[in-house]
Amino acid sequence: MLHLSEREQVVEYGKRLILERLTNGTSGNLSIYDPQSDHMIISPSGIPYLETKVEDVVVMEARTAKVVEGSRKPSSEWALHIGFYLAEPSARAVLHTHSAYATTFSCLHEPLRAVHYGIAAAGVETIPVAEYATFGTPALSVNALKAIGRSKAVLLANHGLIGWDVSMPKVFSLIKEVEFMAELQYRALSIGKPIIIDSEEMARVIEKFKTYGQQPEV
Ligand SMILES: [Zn+2]
Repeated sequence: MLHLSEREQVVEYGKRLILERLTNGTSGNLSIYDPQSDHMIISPSGIPYLETKVEDVVVMEARTAKVVEGSRKPSSEWALHIGFYLAEPSARAVLHTHSAYATTFSCLHEPLRAVHYGIAAAGVETIPVAEYATFGTPALSVNALKAIGRSKAVLLANHGLIGWDVSMPKVFSLIKEVEFMAELQYRALSIGKPIIIDSEEMARVIEKFKTYGQQPEV
């Protein structure tokens, strides 16, 4: 079986998506990219995360979009994932969720702003919203990549959230943090007018996050 350790990570982090309430039912999907073989290891379509086994995970060749190994259908958003790997040379893992707070802002076409400095985890002060496109279409990938800029995460209008990073553990932490940022923005807006941190300070925070190479534990 090809890419066993990557398959195991796809299964493990798929379970965590449900257990940590980052998505519902079978929505969302996750993948890992191996640049040497050009293989993308991606969650299968329509199988509940808690029931997914390593043999259900699908291996595809990114450049040709052909299934290399697997008897299941790949996630319906396989084109969205491939788009990220082809556009961003450092991307090794992509995670897409319909997490409640981030998706709420995506339905308003409202970006996530620097209500809290933790937004710098995405490498930017504002997480943008990509224009709407039907799920599972190449247009969704095009719109997401057009909107994402230097951010590692982007909201998909009336749909959800997607992000990339250099590994599955890292992209999982990123998506979790972005969802928390969305929750804070939602809560702050519900009782008042959030004070947005200015660009000069956010530039300092983003730089500081880079220097530490991880989010500071404060
Ligand atoms: Zn989706």
